[in-house]
Amino acid sequence: MASKGITILGASGSIGVSTLDVLARHPERFHVYALTAHSNVDKLFEQCQQFQPRYAVMVDPLAASVLEKRLQAVGSDVVVLAGAEALDAVASSPDTDYVMAAIVGAAGLVPTLAAARAGKRVMLANKEALVMSGQLFIDAVCAYGAELLPIDSEHNAVFQCLPSASLREREHRGVEKILLTASGGPFRTWAARDLHDITPEQAVAHPNWSMGQKISVDSATLMNKGLEVIEACWLFGLPAERVEVVVHPQSTIHSMVSYNDGSVLAQLGNPDMRTPIAYALGWPERLASGVAPLDLFATARLDFEQPDRERFPCLQLAYDAHVRGGYATIALNAANEVAVKAFLGREIGFTDIPVLVKAVMLTASTGTPMNLEEILIQDEESRVRSLSWIKNKKIH
Ligand code: NDP
Ligand code: MG
Repeated sequence: MASKGITILGASGSIGVSTLDVLARHPERFHVYALTAHSNVDKLFEQCQQFQPRYAVMVDPLAASVLEKRLQAVGSDVVVLAGAEALDAVASSPDTDYVMAAIVGAAGLVPTLAAARAGKRVMLANKEALVMSGQLFIDAVCAYGAELLPIDSEHNAVFQCLPSASLREREHRGVEKILLTASGGPFRTWAARDLHDITPEQAVAHPNWSMGQKISVDSATLMNKGLEVIEACWLFGLPAERVEVVVHPQSTIHSMVSYNDGSVLAQLGNPDMRTPIAYALGWPERLASGVAPLDLFATARLDFEQPDRERFPCLQLAYDAHVRGGYATIALNAANEVAVKAFLGREIGFTDIPVLVKAVMLTASTGTPMNLEEILIQDEESRVRSLSWIKNKKIH
């Protein structure tokens, strides 16, 4: 089998590092075509030394020139490119077969869409890209013959529990409901009055998963689960009322599919993203991932609870936004990104996050943007509104 060329968008992040760990176990099947980061020169330098990609992209031009000098100094022939446009170029190049979409947030949308439009195997971790673009993204996947494989552990689990056919045919195969599991985050058992004083350090310390900062805060507010509900609707072609969230604190079951004959299929495993990454890289085969098999006797028990939508309003806000339409989901995502950044920067409190997101989401018109340009305009406007919300809050 010919070796597949891989581009990793967001190589320096948590998913990027796990992807390279899996790739290193299969040198005969894959070679790294391009690695990208925003500005983390040290990480990309180290990865370039080990994996010798053809291209390294740094979005920050200053970081690109530092990386280039460091690589030249060690005699490397990796070509360094700078700027966001270079992301699209490496994501759509004829020399790459698979694209791991692992940039965090809205910044991943344009290059991930470029990969879909170039007909690549798109391994989607960057859920925000799908939340923002919805039908437009799915249409591009279909029109250009791309393969869309979910990396998010829940969606990957669902994908594993569905019959092996194209993603869009699921509805007709007896699927009643998708049951997305949620750990409930670090504050699952906290009283509402204690949530005000949560610090960024407490919020990023996830009980079961080791992840980037933004998704860790999203897990703590349950916005991550909200974004995942929208992601599931688009990936599996189901309405929101057929995507249910089940809190499962052990994070052993990664999600389930409930069928019309009473069967519920689940995928279990240790909480390690290398399992879904290996599944997407190898599909339809399975590849060794380095993840230890689950020790059921150590797991001992599996608990399930309803999510608390009052203490964690972000989950319901995401359902509401999806029903309102594309403008609202873009506003929800943009406001959340601004809010999380402000929370991490200690400008707003933990419980301000849903208040800000709701205020901005409700200003969005109903309906859905028709093209990428309209999506990006709505994203930008929602960010401006979010920043002014934060400014006004500080004044009062
Ligand atoms: P990290 O914060 O660890 O990494 C983010 C990556 O994106 C880094 O490579 C970063 O570069 C790059 N990046 C950040 N901003 C920009 C930008 N403006 N333009 C281009 N590149 C940028 O995130 P994670 O790996 O945790 O998450 C990545 C995505 O995967 C998210 O969408 C998340 O929701 C999703 N995901 C993550 C999971 C996990 O376990 N971590 C699980 C499921 C989904 P630099 O380092 O230079 O800043
Ligand atoms: Mg997930």
